[in-house]
Amino acid sequence: MENLLVSACLLGFDCKYNGGNNALPPETLKRLRRHYRLIPVCPETAGGLPVPREPSERRGERVINRAGQDVTAEFQKGAEIAAALARRFKIRRALLKSNSPSCGSGSVYDGSFSGILTAGDGMASEYIKREGVEVISDYSKIFQD
Ligand code: SF4
Repeated sequence: MENLLVSACLLGFDCKYNGGNNALPPETLKRLRRHYRLIPVCPETAGGLPVPREPSERRGERVINRAGQDVTAEFQKGAEIAAALARRFKIRRALLKSNSPSCGSGSVYDGSFSGILTAGDGMASEYIKREGVEVISDYSKIFQD
């Protein structure tokens, strides 16, 4: 069975900045488990950030939280851990939470904390794409082939 790297919050872990999660519908989780061995990762907590925490957004190569603190080092550490997991588990595809400054792929919030999206990847997505992993944000696309 193929391994699939998955954002832990999509699997129901309460690792979101506000202490909640982004759990996928139970039927979707069941279906995912039938097709893949799921490998959870939360890059932000893996990088040492607490739950709950201030939300953060990318500003170019830096990541800043809503309180104005630079959390780039924690995001880089979490992204390195995600990339190491991808290598270790021979990951080819990852299902990661959309728009997140860590897990987003193709679009992220623009750093102004005003809900505006811009083109770009979260830091963990960026690092694991360098490992040759296909990052998918929309779970319906996982089942299309
Ligand atoms: Fe979810 Fe990724 Fe944010 Fe962790 S870093 S809470 S896995 S979106």
